[in-house]
Amino acid sequence: MSRKRSWAEPYKIKMVEPVFMTTLEDREKFIKEAGYNTFLLRSRDVYIDLLTDSGTSAMSDRQWAGIMMGDEAYAGSENFYHLESTIQDYYGYKFVVPTHQGRGAEHLISQILIKKGDFIPGNMYFTTTRLHQELAGGTFVDVIIDEAHDSESNFPFKGNIDLNKLENLIKEKGADKIPYVSIATTVNMAGGQPISMANLKEVRALTNKYDIKIVHDMTRVAENAYMIKLLEDGYADKPVAEIIKEICSLTDAATMSSKKDALVSIGGFLAINDEDVFAEARNLVVVYEGLHTYGGMAGRDMEALAIGITESVQDDHIRARVGQVRYLGEKLLDAGIPIVNPIGTHGIFIDAKKFLPHLSQDMFPAQTLAAEIYIDSGVRAMERGVVSAGRNKETGEHNYPNLELVRLTIPRRVYTQAHMDVIAESVQYVHERRDQINGLKMVFEPKYLRFFQARFEKL
Ligand SMILES: *Cc1c(COP(=O)(O)O)cnc(C)c1O
Repeated sequence: MSRKRSWAEPYKIKMVEPVFMTTLEDREKFIKEAGYNTFLLRSRDVYIDLLTDSGTSAMSDRQWAGIMMGDEAYAGSENFYHLESTIQDYYGYKFVVPTHQGRGAEHLISQILIKKGDFIPGNMYFTTTRLHQELAGGTFVDVIIDEAHDSESNFPFKGNIDLNKLENLIKEKGADKIPYVSIATTVNMAGGQPISMANLKEVRALTNKYDIKIVHDMTRVAENAYMIKLLEDGYADKPVAEIIKEICSLTDAATMSSKKDALVSIGGFLAINDEDVFAEARNLVVVYEGLHTYGGMAGRDMEALAIGITESVQDDHIRARVGQVRYLGEKLLDAGIPIVNPIGTHGIFIDAKKFLPHLSQDMFPAQTLAAEIYIDSGVRAMERGVVSAGRNKETGEHNYPNLELVRLTIPRRVYTQAHMDVIAESVQYVHERRDQINGLKMVFEPKYLRFFQARFEKL
């Protein structure tokens, strides 16, 4: 007989944060007032908040104790040295520059390495990463495998680089026009999909051949490492911490948003192996972030981060983290809900086109579905479809993306299995009565990043 052991949490709950319970009537009123946009809801009116996994993790008692150990000296804070040695020990990079969050590190490395007219290939774009590459004069080029753009493909490593696309780009533009390849572990915009170690090794061999660097967006590296352990030959018996170090060893520098994997509400860093690049980054950080021993973080935040890193690489932690996301994903699959395959590591992405096939994309199916889920249960999700995609600059028409998704992002260590059940029951109930759901019309449209503040009315 095979021995079953569930993914249950490797911690117990010491402190709770009460949430306000609302009625159906309340929620109908709140979402109407919010213009049917979940970004415009007040947090107190939300029961289970799945808007994002960024900065929303629960910290441990050790991390809170670390907060009390904050050394708020302007220069040379003890917490910085703890953070620096933790990053060196767990990730293996030589030099560390702290930043206020991930985009601060992206800004520094882009300004240092990118020249006007350069090209930066990557495994799909991320919003802030691409913007900083472009502000530095570069052009982002997507070289992810085609499977990443197909919600139905079950390929296990949808974060992989297409080596032909990459080598063709190098041959076409010339290696001197490509300062680095940008590799994200895992790929957020593809639905939290991992890159394989084998693929990363091939990318390393190819970039070595042309003397091109690899810059690693390591925001969710522990989740990626865990998927390698689960799915890739030869890794089943290796600790996640060891796999993380191997990933990092194949890259030259890294940017980190500690608000995701590393279990803190704010913080980030740039990690580098090249001493000259480090010298420049350490100089530039004082212009944009703060002195090189705090980079925009308080001492206490650096301490909580150092401790968060050590917790984030533990097998038991990451097994429960990814296990909880998969638990919810499998419940939805069992109920026949159309979601992006395979189940990602930080959230579930519902395919709103398939969920509400009677709504055209002009009726904003993902926006509608996110509002309906909120009305039913107070669960807050996020639209990732035509509203997020904005308008075509030339024609003024909506951009109609292939993927019209509702993202249910799971914060780390915050919700329980019973919460996952409530989410699944609610999505299932909305699915059962999907025929009665009408779409929305946009009645207010902001000029920039319209999804944050657009307002809608029911059709
Ligand atoms: C969140 C995120 C970033 C940006 O980090 P911030 O801390 O929000 O500035 C960069 N890359 C990825 C993949 C992210 O998810």
